[in-house]
Amino acid sequence: MKSSAIKVALVSMAVFLSVACNQAAQPASDGKIGVVVSILPQAEFVQKVGGDKVDVTVMVPPGASPHTYEVTPAQMVKLSTASIYAKVGTPLEFELTWLDKLIAQNKDILVVDCSKGINLMQSDDPDESGMDPHIWTAVSNVKVMVNNICDGLVSIDTGNKSYYQGNRDAYLAELDTLDKDIRTTLSGTAGRTFIVYHPAWSYFAHDYGLVQVGIEQEGKEPKAAYMARLISEAKEKNIKVIFVSPEFDTRNAETIAREIGGRVVIIDPLAGDYLINMRSIAAAFKEAFK
Ligand SMILES: [Zn+2]
Repeated sequence: MKSSAIKVALVSMAVFLSVACNQAAQPASDGKIGVVVSILPQAEFVQKVGGDKVDVTVMVPPGASPHTYEVTPAQMVKLSTASIYAKVGTPLEFELTWLDKLIAQNKDILVVDCSKGINLMQSDDPDESGMDPHIWTAVSNVKVMVNNICDGLVSIDTGNKSYYQGNRDAYLAELDTLDKDIRTTLSGTAGRTFIVYHPAWSYFAHDYGLVQVGIEQEGKEPKAAYMARLISEAKEKNIKVIFVSPEFDTRNAETIAREIGGRVVIIDPLAGDYLINMRSIAAAFKEAFK
C-alpha cells in the first residue's frame, strides 16, 4: 500500500508534467471517444456498443490480477485523454486502490458505474464479510452493465444515440442467446457443488443454481484444517475437478486434486472475448459434473 502510494505520487507527477506540456487533454487524433475500463471482459462490452466510434483501453492487462495490479505511466497518459472511465463499480481491489487517483488525472472524464442497478452478493469466502466484486460472471449482470455503458456513451455523444442503442440491442440479443445456451449446456446440474481456488463465480453459480466452494481464505492461502475439510467434502460429493484462475497459484488446488484422484481445470473470469469465454466455461462445468 505504501509503495503503491509512492508510485502513484511519482506517476501523478509524470502525467501532470506531460499534460502540462501538451496544454490540455485532447481527443484522440482519429476522433474516437477514449473509453477506459478496468478489466478485459468490459472491453468487449464497450467495443460492441461503441463500435468504430470508441478507442478502448484496458487497465488490468491479460494475466494480471485486479487484486494486485499497478498502473503504468503509459496507461496514465492514455487515461488523461479519455472521455469515459467505465468502472466495474464493485469492491474490486484494483478500483478501490486506483480509481480516485486515476480520475484525478482527468477532471473532465465521465465515470460510468457499470454495476448501477445490480444487487451485489456476499463474497463466498466464509471468513470475509465483504461483497463479491465479480459481477460479470453472470450474463444477467452483463446485460445491466451493457445498458449502463450505452447510457454513458449516449450522454457524451448524443448525436449517435441510435447507433449506440442499435449496437446495444444487437449485443443484448447475443447475451440472451449465450444465457440460453449455457442453460442448455448445464441442464440437469442444478444443486451441484464445485470447488475453485479464487471464488470468483458467485454470480454465475447463483444464475445457474450451482454451489461454489472457495479454497482461498480472505484472499490468502487456506489453513491445513480447512484444506482437510475441503478434501473430505470433495470425496463425499464425488467432486473430480478443482477449478483455478490463471492469475493464481495452483498448488493448493493440485494438492486437493491429488487427494481426491481428480484434476485441476483452468477457467478464467478475466479473459477477453466474453461470449466465447463463457461458452467454454459452461462446457468446462458440464465436463466437471459428468
Ligand atoms: Zn477476483
